[in-house]
Amino acid sequence: MVETVIHDAHVVVDEGWEIPGGWVALDGGRVHAVGGPGDPRPTATHRVDAGGRLLTPGLVNTHHHMYQNLTRAYAPAINGSLFQWLTTLYPLWARLDEEAVHLSTYVGIAELLLGGCTTSSDHLYVHPRPNLVDAQVAAAREVGFRFMATRGSMTRSVDDGGLPPREVVQDEETILADSERLVARYHDPSPGSLTRVALAPCSMFSVSESIMRSTAELAEQHDVRLHTHLAEDRDEDVYSQEVYGCRPVEYFERVGWASARSWVAHYVYGSEAENRRLADAGVSATQCPSSNMILAGDTADAMALRALGMAVGLGCDGSASNDAASMWLETRGALLLGRYRHGPGSMTARDALSMATRGGARNLGWDDEIGHLRPGACADVVVWESSPLTLAGALTDPVEAWLRTGPSRAWYSFVGGRELVRQGELRLGGLEDVLRRHRQVATAIQGLG
Ligand SMILES: [Zn+2]
Repeated sequence: MVETVIHDAHVVVDEGWEIPGGWVALDGGRVHAVGGPGDPRPTATHRVDAGGRLLTPGLVNTHHHMYQNLTRAYAPAINGSLFQWLTTLYPLWARLDEEAVHLSTYVGIAELLLGGCTTSSDHLYVHPRPNLVDAQVAAAREVGFRFMATRGSMTRSVDDGGLPPREVVQDEETILADSERLVARYHDPSPGSLTRVALAPCSMFSVSESIMRSTAELAEQHDVRLHTHLAEDRDEDVYSQEVYGCRPVEYFERVGWASARSWVAHYVYGSEAENRRLADAGVSATQCPSSNMILAGDTADAMALRALGMAVGLGCDGSASNDAASMWLETRGALLLGRYRHGPGSMTARDALSMATRGGARNLGWDDEIGHLRPGACADVVVWESSPLTLAGALTDPVEAWLRTGPSRAWYSFVGGRELVRQGELRLGGLEDVLRRHRQVATAIQGLG
């Protein structure tokens, strides 16, 4: 007897392994077994009839700034460039406190769950008050969501030629001591863990060279992952040349970050030689399709990077730049961008799904356990729902149909075998109250109340 069997699904177990009319058995937080219509099915306490729907590994989101959902679609900022947008919003973000971060993380996770995501990292780099990452971990644990918190940081304010105001940056000692504290307190490297911690200076514009170096050393010492923004904007080339006397990727290498421990957000403007060097070093990247298009930058050439052996995952990016946090939407965005760039024969829905699952899991150094449903993997599973109307006529390829029609969202979501979405509804008792308080806090932060 196992805990759960989901049956009558088109099961995507992993790249190159699909089972039409299949089933998945979950037990003890793991995928216990998978099988087809002719295979004997274990008996289960809880049975879910997927009704012929698509079942995939839960999607993995590897770049987000959840606190930004407190300033979604903020009218004074929406039409600025990346830098104008940031400088408009920083003073608002300086009002963040533990409650605001707790509420925005809870909302961010709930939204991700409905979009078929079961693991997310979050890049929290503004720290106007202490213990904000603690508030995030608490929210993720309340929900039961798999979460890689990152201890972000900024050291360089407007006073030192950076972008952010003084209130949201910190000195290096404070950052390093808090990074060590958070890793010791929350980073759980054990198999099947729900909480891990990575270290994540914001970007070369906002942190000193020495904090980049010492953060990399600290990550090495504690065996945790490293994350930052890299090569997101052309302005970065100019800035890097002026301040560091080299190109952004050269700087990244110089500060000791070009290793398999690092994953970088965006990575749009690497040269061919740089792409090859980072791929060879084991660095991986996160493409953020909606964010790139809304901010009207360019986007990573995901398929070209993958061809070099670089893992490329997907991120919905901050709720203020993208304003939506559906990994289904980002996966579809990746498909559209890839084909728009290189033609219809260049990319399939399965390639995009691979980025959202295997790619993301590799970003987080977690591909032994998540991003696939081979027996023994974490029981992070999504059964997808599209309306019968939009699926009408889609009879020949359930994976292509999933991404080409839509919108699609989670019908069932399991994280570590726990059912967090049932028949399209979140199973979170506190959500209504959280939304009410989120509105109050967002109103205050935006100076509207
Ligand atoms: Zn970002």
